[in-house]
Amino acid sequence: MKNYDFVIVGGGIAGLSLGYELSASSRLLVLEQEDAPGYHTTGRSAAIYSELMLEPTLLSLAVESKRFFIDPPNLFAQTPLVKTCGCLFVGGSKDKQNIEAACQRMNDLGVECQVIDGDDIAKRVPVARQHADAVFCGLFEPNAMRIDVDQLMQSYVKGITARGGVIAKKAAVLALEKSANQWVITTSKGPFSASTLINAAGAWGDRIAELAGVAPMGLDPRRRTMITFDAPQDYDITSWPPLGDFNGSYYYMPDAGQLAGSLSDETPSPPCDAQPEEIDIATAAYTIEQNTHLEIKKINHSWAGLRTFAPDRLPVIGPDPEDKHFFWCVGQGGSGIETAPALSKLAARIALNDEAEAMAAGIGVDLELLSPARFR
Ligand SMILES: Cc1cc2nc3c(=O)[nH]c(=O)nc-3n(C[C@H](O)[C@H](O)[C@H](O)COP(=O)(O)OP(=O)(O)OC[C@H]3O[C@@H](n4cnc5c(N)ncnc54)[C@H](O)[C@@H]3O)c2cc1C
Repeated sequence: MKNYDFVIVGGGIAGLSLGYELSASSRLLVLEQEDAPGYHTTGRSAAIYSELMLEPTLLSLAVESKRFFIDPPNLFAQTPLVKTCGCLFVGGSKDKQNIEAACQRMNDLGVECQVIDGDDIAKRVPVARQHADAVFCGLFEPNAMRIDVDQLMQSYVKGITARGGVIAKKAAVLALEKSANQWVITTSKGPFSASTLINAAGAWGDRIAELAGVAPMGLDPRRRTMITFDAPQDYDITSWPPLGDFNGSYYYMPDAGQLAGSLSDETPSPPCDAQPEEIDIATAAYTIEQNTHLEIKKINHSWAGLRTFAPDRLPVIGPDPEDKHFFWCVGQGGSGIETAPALSKLAARIALNDEAEAMAAGIGVDLELLSPARFR
């Protein structure tokens, strides 16, 4: 049976980014049950890097990750991982005070953003339908970016492999047991053993804990639906920023020559291969039509993914308090792509006992807020 220092369960962004960091100094195996990494939530995201409205810990992780996105390591692809697009939240006249307060709060946290009026919204996204109830003023973040998630994932795969790590696909973890201080991991590709097991199984995080006999975190997977539809022919959509409702009821943005949109839904779901529901697709199209001059004649494509939250909506990284060889890397919620580079570096330092506190202090993160111990 092949033995590793670390076996990571899950080949999404959480597992691959942490695998990349650990593979520099450890014997590492990533187990992914599907035949391609990123098949589940990671491959279904909106791929936005936006600092607006992020909770302060997530903001610190995102800001640190931005450095990585802009200047990735040499092992990574040489094409840019990010492209600036800006990001715009809009609200009605009743939201104006809250938007101004949010702008001040984000400015105080160092995020560049400004309050804009209806005319400015119309210049940036001409199809936004002006009305006092919903599209009256906005909060614009000029430096928001789209992330090339495919490129990022391929680069992590390339980096892990170049450093001698192994990624096993179609390798579902079926059983976990401890023998002589080693994890024995039964998978659909045979058994493996490891000193430390890392749980980066996204929506399945608590299921993996159950297999290991470790208490669950109370993870809460929530389905979000996306649709794509044709862009209006009389506009050049390429410069439009993603536009979302300040109160979180919809968003839309240019996406590969079409428009992509969502209801910003958060429907509780068991861990599964999430599929879009007809009602969510129809409601998303209707809500976007109500707030734009667009007529959505046909949905070109729709999909859904699970955003998985810990009870306090912050990620969970670190050893389980009852078993320090069971390591959590879950609960990335709706920010798992934009925070992955920094979160994985921090998690790797914790796992390797390598000055994680110093790194956390340097980027303004309190490790206790991310520790599994906060739920025990
Ligand atoms: C619609 C939508 C929009 C989003 N937009 C953004 C955005 O704009 N910006 C952003 O930063 N984030 C966004 N997110 C969130 C982001 O996609 C997630 O936070 C992130 O992808 C979570 O990554 P993960 O690796 O934890 O999960 P996953 O990608 O789901 O990976 C977990 C993996 O574990 C594997 N696994 C589970 N059980 C087993 C087992 N027993 N054996 C082997 N493998 C197993 C699964 O197959 C899966 O591949 C969005 C998410 C959605 C759904």
